[in-house]
Amino acid sequence: MQSYKIYPVGFAANSYLVTADGRYAVCIDPAQPRIAQEAERRGLSVTHVLLTHGHFDHTGGAHALQERGAKVGCLKGEEAIVPDAELAAAFGAYAPGAFPRFHIDFTFRDGEVLSLAGLAVRVIATPGHTAGGASFLIGDRLYSGDTLFAGDIGRSDLPTGSGAQLVASVKKLYALEGDYTVCPGHGEDTTLEYERRHNGWVRC
Ligand SMILES: [Zn+2]
Repeated sequence: MQSYKIYPVGFAANSYLVTADGRYAVCIDPAQPRIAQEAERRGLSVTHVLLTHGHFDHTGGAHALQERGAKVGCLKGEEAIVPDAELAAAFGAYAPGAFPRFHIDFTFRDGEVLSLAGLAVRVIATPGHTAGGASFLIGDRLYSGDTLFAGDIGRSDLPTGSGAQLVASVKKLYALEGDYTVCPGHGEDTTLEYERRHNGWVRC
């Protein structure tokens, strides 16, 4: 398994391309339209897009991948905030319509193991940043969206957010067996064990 991290240009989330065979890939949070080119440049065909949540800074490239045949999925319930053009406008992040709309092709639930592009993807519902937020376990990596960052946790003050739920979700991740490389929605990678011991907001 290979996991490519693509940092954003400007204000947007990290995007991840994950492949088992070097040919087909899952994209977690296609933040910007250029993610389609980033996949092509690596010779990857993106079959599925997994959204950790519906915020515009994580989904700006979903349309471009969907147009090329990828199926876009999120946790059941999160469809309601996809696309959240109003929130984007509130942030002044882009002119309405700057990112073409996309639609949700499939949804999944907590604990499901999805078989996509030859990868086993375990879904962990992690509400709190948004009500329908999810994290994904693939191999030795934990894709944590805006739930858990290196040394930090996500915001809970945006629509559908909940501080209590967010803390419970971070603890749910800490309770996983063993250690994982944590690939967050923003910033650098970390490890679950490091965060259990040193996170500034929630510790074991
Ligand atoms: Zn977010």
